[in-house]
Amino acid sequence: METNQNAFSPPIRIVASRRRRRTVAARLRSGVLELLVPDWMSHAEREKWAEEMRGRIERRMVRTRPSDEKLTERARTLNERHFGGRLRWTSIAFADMSHMWGSCSFTTGAIRIAWRAASLPAWVVDYLVVHELAHLEHSDHGPAFHELENRYPLTERARGYLMAIDQGVATVD
Ligand SMILES: [Zn+2]
Repeated sequence: METNQNAFSPPIRIVASRRRRRTVAARLRSGVLELLVPDWMSHAEREKWAEEMRGRIERRMVRTRPSDEKLTERARTLNERHFGGRLRWTSIAFADMSHMWGSCSFTTGAIRIAWRAASLPAWVVDYLVVHELAHLEHSDHGPAFHELENRYPLTERARGYLMAIDQGVATVD
């Protein structure tokens, strides 16, 4: 499900506030675009602002874009640290994925990390990389897979962190 890498389509959470009078604000928090609007604002206008703010943040992200080189470096370090350097992949890069945090092709060895994950804390991104690295040896999520991903000491914490985000997104209208 690889699409245009330049497209940025994070989940959007619209927060309407009675205290907010005219201004609209947006922030990217844990990979979710939060749009703060006055509660009188119409649905159509909220949508328009969501697109406007998404575009602004996208332009800012393109300027300060996380590099695939850094991601490759992280993967190398994590491979050395937790897998004795034995894992081999063909490519690792950020890609536009709005419903997944990462993917790994068992057959081609290509790893993709969701572009929106770049706004997460480094230790969570490291977990995502470790998870996809572990898929190089096991395509399923069985016990052998978990033994591998649990070599990363913050795996449980990172899973909880991501689960909280995914649940938050799921309750958005
Ligand atoms: Zn997986």
